[in-house]
Amino acid sequence: MPTARQKQRALRILDGLCARYPDARCELDHDPAQPWQLLVAVVLSAQATDVSVNKVTPALFAAFPTVQAFAAAAPGDVEPYIKSIGLFRNKAKNIVAAARVVVGDFGGVVPPARELLETLPGVGSKSAAVLVANCFGEPAIAVDTHVGRVARRLGLTRQTDPDKVETELSALWPRERLLQAHHTLIFQGRRICDARRPRCSECPVAGDCRRIGVDELA
Ligand code: SF4
Repeated sequence: MPTARQKQRALRILDGLCARYPDARCELDHDPAQPWQLLVAVVLSAQATDVSVNKVTPALFAAFPTVQAFAAAAPGDVEPYIKSIGLFRNKAKNIVAAARVVVGDFGGVVPPARELLETLPGVGSKSAAVLVANCFGEPAIAVDTHVGRVARRLGLTRQTDPDKVETELSALWPRERLLQAHHTLIFQGRRICDARRPRCSECPVAGDCRRIGVDELA
């Protein structure tokens, strides 16, 4: 368990990130009333940028407006709408298969529990955390490449396994601020703490950063 001092430092960091990124949010476009749309966007975003996903989802959701429409489709029907996204054939297959499970086993409603979401094709631990946190109000900090990298550089964790990183970060902040931590760490990773060229001189939390591994990048 983290010490009180470690928690204080983590809170200072989170407050600093929130001050810099007050509008931090999920950057995958979707209808907030339709968790299914976020599920599709999250599946598409594996090894792809949110920007590239946002380019294809409007036409995709216009062609397949409901989870039932996806369930009735063949993967080949979905492929033309997402072919600009990496691994599109596999993703089309997973999306249609997931739709059929949601319709067949869950009455057409995306299940609100992580363990059930993780049974859906194409939905792993990180994706399930994104869904429950953004759609169902469950405190969770999904660990993607940005969250892991920034947290390690800041010295908030030494872990590399995403599940272990999530466990350690979740112990640092109040539960109600975990989604905020998730979004602001991603914003920080995308805008300032770049994988190869972190812009430390512009960083809002430089005073609290241990810059683990950063000097080796030069
Ligand atoms: S000081 Fe540098 S390494 Fe640390 S979080 Fe900021 S940009 Fe990243």
